[in-house]
Amino acid sequence: MDFKITSKTRLFGVVGHPVAHSLSPVMMNAAFRSLGLDAVYLAFDVKEAGDIVGAARALGLGGLSVTIPHKEAVIPFLDGVEDDAREIGAVNTIVNDSGRLIGQNTDWLGATGAIEEAAGPVRGKLFMILGSGGAARAVAWGLVKRGAKVVVAARDQEKARRVAEPLGGLAIPLENAGEFKVHGMVNATPLGMAPDTGAIPIDPRAIKEGVVVLDTVYRPVRTLLLKEADARGALPVSGLRMLLHQAAGQVEAWTRGKAPFGAMEEALDSWVESHAD
Ligand code: NAP
Repeated sequence: MDFKITSKTRLFGVVGHPVAHSLSPVMMNAAFRSLGLDAVYLAFDVKEAGDIVGAARALGLGGLSVTIPHKEAVIPFLDGVEDDAREIGAVNTIVNDSGRLIGQNTDWLGATGAIEEAAGPVRGKLFMILGSGGAARAVAWGLVKRGAKVVVAARDQEKARRVAEPLGGLAIPLENAGEFKVHGMVNATPLGMAPDTGAIPIDPRAIKEGVVVLDTVYRPVRTLLLKEADARGALPVSGLRMLLHQAAGQVEAWTRGKAPFGAMEEALDSWVESHAD
C-alpha cells in the first residue's frame, strides 16, 4: 500500500456478521487513496447491533457501512436517522457528524444508479420487485423516488403489501410475476446466491425481451437469473453495479464531496477478475 498510517489516520469500516467476504474494503480504500485522504477502511465482524454505535463513538470512527444482519436493528441506537433510511426502515450507512451518529441509506441509490446507467431514466416506467425484505424496500423506495411505479411480488403477501402500498404500488404473489408487462425487474431475494446457484425466484418465461433485469445478488457475478435474462433478449444488470453505486453514495455521505467512481470501479473490477466465479 502506498499510504502511511499515522496517529491522525481516520478509521472507517463495515460492520456485519459475517463480514469477512465483504467487497467494501476493496472499493473504499481505493476511494480514500484516490481522494488523497488519510483514512483506512476495515471489516468488523460484530454480532450485536447494540455494540456498533458505542464502539464507533468510543473509537471516533469517521463512518461505517452497515450490512446483514444489522441494517434494521441498529436504528434505535443511533442519534438520528435521515429521511431515506427512516422511510425505508433500514440503515446501511452511519455518518459521524461531530460525535452524532446519523443513519442513512444508499442501497436505493445503488439500485437506481445501476438501472439508470444500463437502461436510462426510470421515470414513468413500471418495475417488478421480487422479494419484500430490506433490499426490496430500498429498491422500491428508490425507484418510486425517481418517478417509477412498482409491483412487489413476494411469497408473503402481508410483507409485500407493507412494501408496496405506502409507495402507491401493488403487491402480488411471486408466482404471478409473469402476468405483468413491465419495463424492469429486480431480484431482491437471496435466491441464486452461492452455493444455491441453480435457484431462480421466478419462472424464466416471465422475463420478456427488452426488459432490464437487476439481480441484487452478486455472488456469483453471473447468476442464473442474469443468464436467463441474457438468453431471452433482456438487459442483465449485475448486483456488483448496485454495490458500486451504493458504495459511491457512502463515500459522498462521509466526505461531502464527489466519490472517485472510476477508481472504485477499477478496484472492484480488478478484484472480481482475480476472483472469477
Ligand atoms: P431479507 O430482508 O432477508 O429479505 C429477503 C427476501 O427474500 C424476503 O422477502 C424473503 O421472503 C425472500 N426470500 C428468501 N428466500 C426465498 C425463497 N426461497 N423464495 C422466495 N422468496 C424468498 O434480505 P435483504 O437484506 O433484503 O437481502 C436480499 C438480497 O439482496 C441478498 O442477497 C443481499 O445480498 C442482496 N443485497 C445486495 C445489495 C447490493 O448492493 N448488490 C445490497 C443490499 C442487499 P420471506 O419474507 O417470505 O422470508
